[in-house]
Amino acid sequence: MKNLFFVLSLILSWLSCTSVQARYFNTVVIDPGHGGHDKGCQWGRVYEKHLCLDTSIRLESNLRKKGYKTAVLRRSDYFISLPQRVSMASRYRNAIFVSVHYNFTWRQEASGLETFYHSAESRSLAQYVQSSMLRKTRGDNRGVKQARYYVIRNSKMPAILVECGFVSNTSERNKMRRAWYRQACADGIAEGIALYRQRG
Ligand SMILES: [Zn+2]
Repeated sequence: MKNLFFVLSLILSWLSCTSVQARYFNTVVIDPGHGGHDKGCQWGRVYEKHLCLDTSIRLESNLRKKGYKTAVLRRSDYFISLPQRVSMASRYRNAIFVSVHYNFTWRQEASGLETFYHSAESRSLAQYVQSSMLRKTRGDNRGVKQARYYVIRNSKMPAILVECGFVSNTSERNKMRRAWYRQACADGIAEGIALYRQRG
Protein backbone atom coordinates (compact mmCIF):
# COMPACT_ATOMS: atom_id res chain seq x y z
CA MET A 1 0.00 0.00 0.00
CA LYS A 2 2.81 2.37 0.94
CA ASN A 3 4.47 1.55 -2.36
CA LEU A 4 1.29 2.33 -4.22
CA PHE A 5 1.07 5.78 -2.58
CA PHE A 6 4.70 6.37 -3.45
CA VAL A 7 4.12 5.51 -7.09
CA LEU A 8 0.94 7.63 -7.19
CA SER A 9 2.72 10.63 -5.71
CA LEU A 10 5.53 10.24 -8.25
CA ILE A 11 3.00 10.21 -11.07
CA LEU A 12 1.20 13.24 -9.62
CA SER A 13 4.39 15.24 -9.27
CA TRP A 14 5.41 14.31 -12.80
CA LEU A 15 1.99 15.41 -14.08
CA SER A 16 2.17 18.73 -12.25
CA CYS A 17 5.66 19.35 -13.62
CA THR A 18 4.60 18.76 -17.20
CA SER A 19 1.43 20.81 -16.85
CA VAL A 20 3.45 23.77 -15.56
CA GLN A 21 5.78 23.56 -18.52
CA ALA A 22 3.27 22.97 -21.32
CA ARG A 23 1.83 26.09 -22.98
CA TYR A 24 -1.89 26.51 -23.46
CA PHE A 25 -2.63 28.23 -26.73
CA ASN A 26 -4.68 26.99 -29.63
CA THR A 27 -4.32 29.81 -32.16
CA VAL A 28 -1.30 30.89 -34.19
CA VAL A 29 -1.45 34.39 -35.67
CA ILE A 30 0.72 34.36 -38.81
CA ASP A 31 2.04 37.71 -40.04
CA PRO A 32 3.42 37.60 -43.61
CA GLY A 33 5.93 40.47 -43.73
CA HIS A 34 5.45 43.50 -46.04
CA GLY A 35 2.92 43.58 -48.93
CA GLY A 36 1.59 46.03 -51.52
CA HIS A 37 3.87 49.03 -52.06
CA ASP A 38 6.07 47.74 -49.22
CA LYS A 39 7.99 45.11 -51.19
CA GLY A 40 10.46 44.28 -48.41
CA CYS A 41 13.84 43.38 -49.84
CA GLN A 42 14.29 42.57 -53.49
CA TRP A 43 16.83 41.05 -55.85
CA GLY A 44 15.90 41.10 -59.54
CA ARG A 45 12.44 39.62 -59.71
CA VAL A 46 12.65 37.99 -56.26
CA TYR A 47 10.52 40.02 -53.82
CA GLU A 48 10.54 39.38 -50.09
CA LYS A 49 6.80 40.15 -49.80
CA HIS A 50 5.92 37.21 -52.09
CA LEU A 51 8.26 34.80 -50.30
CA CYS A 52 6.76 35.79 -46.93
CA LEU A 53 3.19 35.25 -48.12
CA ASP A 54 3.88 31.88 -49.73
CA THR A 55 5.75 30.60 -46.66
CA SER A 56 2.96 31.88 -44.39
CA ILE A 57 0.23 30.06 -46.35
CA ARG A 58 2.30 26.86 -46.21
CA LEU A 59 2.72 27.38 -42.47
CA GLU A 60 -1.02 27.84 -42.08
CA SER A 61 -1.86 24.57 -43.82
CA ASN A 62 0.72 22.64 -41.80
CA LEU A 63 -0.62 24.06 -38.51
CA ARG A 64 -4.24 23.31 -39.48
CA LYS A 65 -3.27 19.67 -40.11
CA LYS A 66 -1.78 19.63 -36.61
CA GLY A 67 -5.11 20.88 -35.20
CA TYR A 68 -4.28 24.53 -34.51
CA LYS A 69 -6.54 27.46 -35.31
CA THR A 70 -4.77 30.01 -37.47
CA ALA A 71 -5.19 33.62 -38.52
CA VAL A 72 -3.14 34.90 -41.46
CA LEU A 73 -2.98 38.71 -41.40
CA ARG A 74 -2.87 39.11 -45.19
CA ARG A 75 -3.81 36.57 -47.86
CA SER A 76 -2.71 38.45 -50.96
CA ASP A 77 -0.44 41.30 -51.99
CA TYR A 78 -1.64 44.39 -50.10
CA PHE A 79 -0.22 46.76 -47.53
CA ILE A 80 -0.98 46.58 -43.80
CA SER A 81 0.76 48.96 -41.38
CA LEU A 82 2.66 47.61 -38.40
CA PRO A 83 0.17 49.06 -35.82
CA GLN A 84 -2.68 47.47 -37.82
CA ARG A 85 -0.92 44.11 -37.65
CA VAL A 86 -0.58 44.34 -33.88
CA SER A 87 -4.19 45.40 -33.42
CA MET A 88 -5.48 42.61 -35.72
CA ALA A 89 -3.45 40.08 -33.71
CA SER A 90 -4.73 41.40 -30.38
CA ARG A 91 -8.26 40.16 -31.23
CA TYR A 92 -7.16 36.57 -30.66
CA ARG A 93 -7.08 34.93 -27.23
CA ASN A 94 -4.87 31.96 -26.30
CA ALA A 95 -2.66 32.82 -29.22
CA ILE A 96 0.96 33.21 -30.24
CA PHE A 97 2.31 35.49 -32.98
CA VAL A 98 4.74 34.54 -35.76
CA SER A 99 6.01 37.14 -38.23
CA VAL A 100 7.59 35.66 -41.38
CA HIS A 101 10.38 37.51 -43.20
CA TYR A 102 13.35 37.02 -45.50
CA ASN A 103 16.61 38.91 -45.01
CA PHE A 104 18.85 41.26 -46.96
CA THR A 105 22.29 42.79 -46.60
CA TRP A 106 24.76 44.44 -48.98
CA ARG A 107 27.39 41.92 -47.83
CA GLN A 108 26.42 39.24 -50.32
CA GLU A 109 28.34 36.49 -48.50
CA ALA A 110 26.08 36.78 -45.42
CA SER A 111 23.77 33.76 -45.11
CA GLY A 112 21.65 31.82 -42.68
CA LEU A 113 18.44 31.85 -40.68
CA GLU A 114 17.71 33.79 -37.51
CA THR A 115 14.81 34.21 -35.10
CA PHE A 116 14.03 37.30 -33.01
CA TYR A 117 11.99 37.71 -29.84
CA HIS A 118 11.38 40.64 -27.49
CA SER A 119 9.79 39.48 -24.21
CA ALA A 120 11.48 36.86 -22.04
CA GLU A 121 8.42 34.60 -22.33
CA SER A 122 8.91 34.45 -26.11
CA ARG A 123 12.52 33.29 -25.90
CA SER A 124 11.91 29.55 -25.75
CA LEU A 125 9.40 29.77 -28.62
CA ALA A 126 12.16 31.45 -30.67
CA GLN A 127 14.65 28.73 -29.71
CA TYR A 128 12.37 25.83 -30.68
CA VAL A 129 11.43 27.46 -33.98
CA GLN A 130 15.02 28.35 -34.87
CA SER A 131 16.37 24.84 -34.25
CA SER A 132 13.48 23.15 -36.06
CA MET A 133 13.91 25.45 -39.10
CA LEU A 134 17.63 24.59 -39.21
CA ARG A 135 16.84 20.86 -39.05
CA LYS A 136 14.38 21.09 -41.96
CA THR A 137 16.33 23.49 -44.22
CA ARG A 138 19.92 22.50 -43.30
CA GLY A 139 20.60 26.26 -43.40
CA ASP A 140 23.29 28.19 -41.50
CA ASN A 141 22.52 29.20 -37.93
CA ARG A 142 22.62 32.95 -37.19
CA GLY A 143 21.06 32.32 -33.80
CA VAL A 144 18.19 33.49 -31.62
CA LYS A 145 18.36 37.18 -30.71
CA GLN A 146 16.45 39.73 -28.72
CA ALA A 147 15.30 42.70 -30.81
CA ARG A 148 12.87 45.61 -30.70
CA TYR A 149 11.02 45.10 -33.98
CA TYR A 150 7.62 46.81 -33.75
CA VAL A 151 5.35 43.78 -34.17
CA ILE A 152 7.11 41.60 -31.58
CA ARG A 153 7.65 44.48 -29.14
CA ASN A 154 4.00 45.49 -29.13
CA SER A 155 2.25 42.10 -29.25
CA LYS A 156 0.72 41.12 -25.93
CA MET A 157 1.24 37.40 -26.61
CA PRO A 158 4.37 35.28 -27.11
CA ALA A 159 5.75 36.68 -30.35
CA ILE A 160 8.65 35.94 -32.68
CA LEU A 161 9.96 37.19 -36.01
CA VAL A 162 11.71 34.67 -38.26
CA GLU A 163 14.17 35.52 -41.04
CA CYS A 164 14.22 32.53 -43.40
CA GLY A 165 17.46 33.33 -45.25
CA PHE A 166 19.06 36.10 -47.33
CA VAL A 167 17.57 37.26 -50.62
CA SER A 168 20.97 38.96 -51.14
CA ASN A 169 22.89 35.65 -51.00
CA THR A 170 23.05 33.87 -54.37
CA SER A 171 22.85 30.32 -53.07
CA GLU A 172 20.08 31.04 -50.56
CA ARG A 173 18.14 33.06 -53.14
CA ASN A 174 18.28 30.11 -55.55
CA LYS A 175 16.90 27.86 -52.81
CA MET A 176 14.09 30.18 -51.70
CA ARG A 177 12.82 30.46 -55.29
CA ARG A 178 11.97 26.77 -55.03
CA ALA A 179 8.89 25.47 -53.29
CA TRP A 180 10.71 22.77 -51.29
CA TYR A 181 12.75 25.39 -49.43
CA ARG A 182 9.75 27.54 -48.49
CA GLN A 183 7.94 24.35 -47.46
CA ALA A 184 10.94 23.32 -45.31
CA CYS A 185 10.89 26.73 -43.58
CA ALA A 186 7.14 26.44 -42.94
CA ASP A 187 7.47 22.85 -41.67
CA GLY A 188 10.32 23.89 -39.37
CA ILE A 189 8.35 26.79 -37.91
CA ALA A 190 5.32 24.52 -37.36
CA GLU A 191 7.42 21.83 -35.70
CA GLY A 192 9.03 24.42 -33.42
CA ILE A 193 5.59 25.70 -32.40
CA ALA A 194 4.44 22.16 -31.56
CA LEU A 195 7.57 21.55 -29.43
CA TYR A 196 7.01 24.84 -27.60
CA ARG A 197 3.44 23.84 -26.79
CA GLN A 198 4.50 20.41 -25.52
CA ARG A 199 7.56 21.46 -23.54
CA GLY A 200 7.09 25.16 -22.83
ZN1 LIG B 1 11.17 41.81 -43.95
